[in-house]
Amino acid sequence: MSFIIKKNLSLEGKTKKIYTINNPREVVIHYKDSITALDGLKNQLLQDKGILNNEISTLIFKFINLCGIKTHFIRKINNREQLCHKVNIIPLEFVVRNIVAGSMSKRLNIQEGIRLSNPIFEIFYKNDKLKDPFINDHHAVFLGVTSYEELNSIYRIISNVNNILKKYFLDKNIILVDFKVEFGKNHKNEILLSDEISPDTCRFWDRKTMKKLDKDPFRIGLNENEEVLDIYMEILKRLNVR
Ligand code: UDP
Repeated sequence: MSFIIKKNLSLEGKTKKIYTINNPREVVIHYKDSITALDGLKNQLLQDKGILNNEISTLIFKFINLCGIKTHFIRKINNREQLCHKVNIIPLEFVVRNIVAGSMSKRLNIQEGIRLSNPIFEIFYKNDKLKDPFINDHHAVFLGVTSYEELNSIYRIISNVNNILKKYFLDKNIILVDFKVEFGKNHKNEILLSDEISPDTCRFWDRKTMKKLDKDPFRIGLNENEEVLDIYMEILKRLNVR
């Protein structure tokens, strides 16, 4: 294993920092303790959340890599950081829904909890000024950030990821309600599943009680910090049970 020498902070987002390193094809991703909701309008520090999300995302990406899907994840290097392949992020958020919740429930005035017979894929344009608007394939191609061919590949990958993660979580008594993923392209122009997968980016419900095991209590302002951290710890505990 070669030495990693951190060089510059190349990007700082709401919940992560990305550092360039001595190997130009790799980066270090650092998980911060911030927790955000409502397009960043709500932003708080939650001590040790970064440690939990680094570990949770590591376990999930390791599993996805093992299933043969190409991702940016290489390995966890310490309790807050991962070594990842450097990618150019496609500025689109892909949401996969198995059960109606969140913005879909509000937008269409449909009760939360209705199971979808086929998963629904949605695209949001990553643009802070525009507050990440909901767009469709044609808008994304028109904006010049992707092509129809690339979208077809991405839809194949997210369908695959959804199937394997639904089963992975169900084995741990967790229902995967919906989740968001991002993609990037490496130096060979290959599409890699990137960013993080954690209770920040997924809705998880307990299989038996339907209790929300994600960021929703934070979104709606319930009992804030302690409860949210307990929930993240519970997810990590379940992922560690084989
Ligand atoms: N999501 C995310 N980042 C965002 C917006 C949504 O990771 O900026 C995730 C969210 O955690 C949920 C899924 O995408 O699992 C669908 O989110 P939704 O569109 O319902 O929006 P929300 O109101 O939850 O932000």
